[in-house]
Amino acid sequence: MSTKYVFDVDGTLTPSRGIIDLDFKAWFNTFCLVNDVYLVTGSDRDKTIEQISEPTYNLCKKVYNCSGSDVYSGSEKVRSSAWKVPPSMHRILDGWLQASRFPVRTGNHKEERPGMMNFSVVGRNATKEQRAEYVEYDTLNKERETIAHIINSYYKDITATVGGETGIDIHPTGSDKSQILEDFQNYREKIHFFGDSIFPSGNDWSIAKAIEERTNGKSHQVKDWRDTWKQLEELTT
Ligand SMILES: [Mg+2]
Repeated sequence: MSTKYVFDVDGTLTPSRGIIDLDFKAWFNTFCLVNDVYLVTGSDRDKTIEQISEPTYNLCKKVYNCSGSDVYSGSEKVRSSAWKVPPSMHRILDGWLQASRFPVRTGNHKEERPGMMNFSVVGRNATKEQRAEYVEYDTLNKERETIAHIINSYYKDITATVGGETGIDIHPTGSDKSQILEDFQNYREKIHFFGDSIFPSGNDWSIAKAIEERTNGKSHQVKDWRDTWKQLEELTT
């Protein structure tokens, strides 16, 4: 019976939003050649390839991009969610773009990805300085929490979470990373999950909890990619 290894990417295999360490990449590629490896990340395919390189991406059995709403096996698309936010949501978000007292708008405020939308008042074209100004504003005013709360109380079947530094992630309720477990239905199979955000508000929480509930499942909280490497070596040697 084969053992399956599932990894978060950001903060688990790479520094947050950063590129994988070269020594770790060499070690991890070998690990992928002798084990069944799967990745699950909130990022899209292009961003993940930028972070871990295309050869490493292709060594994984499957990569679950966009939290499992856009699934690839190498360069082949396995499936993709066609979900879109409803028109009323666009009106609510456009209303916030008008009403927010944060003064700067840089464009690209509503980014649609498979299975989700990312909303940002300052906009995704913001410079580092503009992002920092928004973070400061949001820390004081809790704007994103307010917007997420309004969306969550208005729509039962849609969930909004504060994500990253300036954004809000909006997706169908339940379509978090745990949705990938539909591909892992053989409960006799051993499955290990590694993530850096296994805490109640973290994006690895739902999948880690679901895996822990399985007889042959184990979730591993890691501090960073070095810790992942260390824990993997301990586990497999
Ligand atoms: Mg992470």
